[in-house]
Amino acid sequence: MKTWLLEGKHERFGRVILAAPFPEDTFFHIGIRTERTMRESLGLIHIASYLISFGWNFSPVVSADEKEFIFLCQNSYIGLSAQLDSYRACVHFARIAKESGANSVFLGGPYASVRSEQIILHQKHIDYVVVGQGEVATLDIITGKILKKGAIKNTPLPIDKLPARARSLWTTETSFMGNKATLVNWSDGCIQALHQPCFFCSICHSVKISRRKVSQVIEELKELSKMGYRSIEIGSDDFPGIVSEKWLEELYEALQINKLSFDIYLHSRARSIKGKKLALLKKIGVKIIQVGFETASVSLKKDYADKATLIEEDELIDRFLQLDLKLSPSFIIGFIGETQKTVQETYTRIQSLKKKNVLAGVLLDPLIALPGSSAFAKLCENHPRWKDADFIEPEKIMRVWFKENTKISLDIFLQEREQILSDMPKNVFIQSLLMKL
Ligand code: SF4
Repeated sequence: MKTWLLEGKHERFGRVILAAPFPEDTFFHIGIRTERTMRESLGLIHIASYLISFGWNFSPVVSADEKEFIFLCQNSYIGLSAQLDSYRACVHFARIAKESGANSVFLGGPYASVRSEQIILHQKHIDYVVVGQGEVATLDIITGKILKKGAIKNTPLPIDKLPARARSLWTTETSFMGNKATLVNWSDGCIQALHQPCFFCSICHSVKISRRKVSQVIEELKELSKMGYRSIEIGSDDFPGIVSEKWLEELYEALQINKLSFDIYLHSRARSIKGKKLALLKKIGVKIIQVGFETASVSLKKDYADKATLIEEDELIDRFLQLDLKLSPSFIIGFIGETQKTVQETYTRIQSLKKKNVLAGVLLDPLIALPGSSAFAKLCENHPRWKDADFIEPEKIMRVWFKENTKISLDIFLQEREQILSDMPKNVFIQSLLMKL
């Protein structure tokens, strides 16, 4: 097994290893998510950047095998970042770290955040599980402020109190929209999640939303510009929903004054880019927006809180065409009550978007009732033992979900999806999660 690895040292507190094990080979991502989103967006570099501001020295991320990892474990603090697809690899690395003399092992990341109590209960080689933002908890663990082992639920710092990611720690180059590309994070939280998280959302959201100051964004962009980056992805869950029109206007003026120009890709909800915001996003350099459309079925849409209606989406598509912006909609198949008819409605929607020439990309995934989501809670009604498990095979989750909650076959959907995605024009990128079923 292999892992991304960051080594940090401090004169007084010793060595910390931050590691993100590679996913298992039963999962694979296709399209643009492969390297950029699934690796660089992990919180490790954010945590390292925070520790640097407290006197740690870090060397850039390397990929290491088990032997290289073990070599660094003796008397070190080991932090592991877990996604669903790398959780079992994290458990393996935790065990070999402890057997090789690590001081303590802590686990964080999206998956650990939603399964903290269960992981502590089942995994004896993991001392702490950090829920949500990991910066302060990591500092507290490695400086000995937290001694009691278990799940750590700390109060998140607003994002403007955290340093920008130390870009020089990530040396793998990626390109997107024809330029050297990287990720930024300008806001924290999600407006939708404040009211009612989406049915399938498994993200552990901070209760409060926060945004960076325009001056911080400009400083970060100046740095990126010097390093040759020309494309950026705003990786925040709901960036345009969290900033105001005034904030976007100020950013536009500051970009002009500082002669900064980037091609921007971001994620949004249809209702977060209503009104003047879309035109302002275009002015700051946005070229492509990924929008969660989820389903084209009227009946399914109304059951999933605060989703834009098909009419609102049509208005949005017209505005994209007027402003010459490109759209990358995301669709999910497998909502409760999904039938062949509702699936067909979504396929027809995708074909009509293809004809309008508005697409830059498309995502079409099966619903996976991920732990942490309302969908998973619904599954547990019939499978109460799953509530206490630290891990359930994702394939099992998917198959049981489709069988119990839909009137369609998962296998047939996956075959049809392959056809739809492979029929996309060459200039339309696809970004979906696949599993070897
Ligand atoms: S899925 Fe996205 S839009 Fe929905 S609650 Fe989660 S982060 Fe917010």
